[in-house]
Amino acid sequence: MSRCIPFVSQISDREIAEWLEALRSVLPGYDVMPLADCSMQQCAEAQVAIVANPHAADLKKLPHLQWVQSLWAGVDQLLIETQLNNVAIVRMNDPQLAETMAEAVLTWALSLHRDMPRYRMQQSLQIWQQHTAKLAAERTVGILGLGNLGRKAAKRLFSNGFRVLGWSRSRAELKGIETFCGAAGFTAMLQRVDILICLLPLTAQTQGLIGKDAIALMPKGSALINFARGPIVDTDALMSALNSDRLSHAVLDVFDQEPLPQTSPLWSHPNITILPHISAPTNRQTASLIVAKNINRFFVEGEIPLSVDRALGY
Ligand code: NAP
Repeated sequence: MSRCIPFVSQISDREIAEWLEALRSVLPGYDVMPLADCSMQQCAEAQVAIVANPHAADLKKLPHLQWVQSLWAGVDQLLIETQLNNVAIVRMNDPQLAETMAEAVLTWALSLHRDMPRYRMQQSLQIWQQHTAKLAAERTVGILGLGNLGRKAAKRLFSNGFRVLGWSRSRAELKGIETFCGAAGFTAMLQRVDILICLLPLTAQTQGLIGKDAIALMPKGSALINFARGPIVDTDALMSALNSDRLSHAVLDVFDQEPLPQTSPLWSHPNITILPHISAPTNRQTASLIVAKNINRFFVEGEIPLSVDRALGY
């Protein structure tokens, strides 16, 4: 009998069916099954589960779980909502995801660089007016977070000719990119950015990091792109910076509450672009191959893939 891998999630039935199809095609030696379809014995024997927004109560039905493979790159909710203290959390580390995010970062950095929000507004008012265009080399783009996603995004921006700065917890070395770390590095970098891009994980240290004080460091007229997690940015501080023209524009893909409530004032702000958490969706095909590789290695060599550091929160 093949080994059961429970699939534990709260995503829609359609999404579950699509994931199961993709996962089963690359894990032929295993039974990847929704938790509800696993027998009591299968639950008791499961050492690994594949998870996508799982319920804490569901994971407790798997007493011998050693690790979970998340289908998402961000694991802040998984860490908060579950008490899997003895269970290793392996996040999705897919080079394709980083490519997709780098593409999104370049897209929206270029949109801001080429004044697209202003021309969009002019079109709505039927205004024909040209503004002086800057060169990419005259534009400084700062990235917060130089992990799997931030590094690739930094390289893509650099290839496009931008001056690129990057900040991380430990000092990174990246060809062509000026890097910063620590509180002093944060201040130094923010003072120079025309466009600030957030690709940090949400942790106790990063929650509210981009607040009133951080925004005050940014040059007048600079812009923000948040593709990481909503609570890293203080929404009230952002709104007041946009209302006072301290910041020129914000592109937001992530929010404190998702979907963004209909009543949110962010929807109608003229200087905010709202995206419905689409900057880097997990690709089912490439991600399933990563999951299969991790699961095969565990059952063949007994090796649990690199997992989240609970103390750091990412
Ligand atoms: P990662 O590989 O874990 O990289 C995190 C980076 O942030 C690292 O460079 C790390 O520094 C830095 N960092 C963490 N805490 C810090 C702190 N307190 N101060 C300074 N730097 C800090 O994460 P990733 O795979 O790049 O993903 C980043 C985030 O993107 C995810 O957590 C997720 O929330 C978000 N995401 C969003 C989408 C979307 O569609 N919107 C899709 C995927 C992911 P070190 O290098 O020193 O460790």
